[in-house]
Amino acid sequence: MTSLLTVASAGCALGAAGLAVRWTSRRADALGRPRAFPAWSSLVLVIAAGALLYPGVQRHLEEKRLARAAAELVGGHVTVHCQTTAGALVDAGSELGYVPYDENGIPLKTTTLKRDPCRLLHSYLSGDRNHPSEDVTIAVHVLTHEAMHMRGETSEASAECQAVQRDEATAVLLGATVVQARDLAHAYWTGVYPRMPDDYRSADCAPGGAMDEHLPTAPWLSAQGQ
Ligand SMILES: [Zn+2]
Repeated sequence: MTSLLTVASAGCALGAAGLAVRWTSRRADALGRPRAFPAWSSLVLVIAAGALLYPGVQRHLEEKRLARAAAELVGGHVTVHCQTTAGALVDAGSELGYVPYDENGIPLKTTTLKRDPCRLLHSYLSGDRNHPSEDVTIAVHVLTHEAMHMRGETSEASAECQAVQRDEATAVLLGATVVQARDLAHAYWTGVYPRMPDDYRSADCAPGGAMDEHLPTAPWLSAQGQ
């Protein structure tokens, strides 16, 4: 959809340029009277070009911001793509994001987030972070989870457990205070993680378990009131 908007925007810009060129080449009519510059037509086309371009520019800036946060978690440059409206229309998958793998089964350092989590991340970036809805909490977690794949993790249960221990860091990278971020990570750990499918969960993902990385951002620390 955005690419169509970009094409339409370019059409409007070309139309405005065409009006200016035509006026420059024919400044007088057949009787030699000066022709007025088509100011209103040009202005409308320029405004339309800008308005059509705006969603794509805004999406690009948000992708950059999400990529900067993910890069901190991954420890290197990554790219984040937000699914376009057109992409969402033809998408039958239920996952909220994915990282493609190369021919050797190595995860690439790029992820595509589905349209809905991207919209929710947009609201989190620009809005109140005090009491995020569960959907917003999940959207922040999806960014963390896909970052774990981009770090090279291919196991869903491992990526998920690494992610729950870093959701607080992600939220801070997206602008939350430490308290807001801790609440979000705790809400995911206690409210969403237990409902995840079996292959996303592990009994080892627990305080003192084999998957406990003993990070200060582990959600079970705040669960214990620490
Ligand atoms: Zn995954």
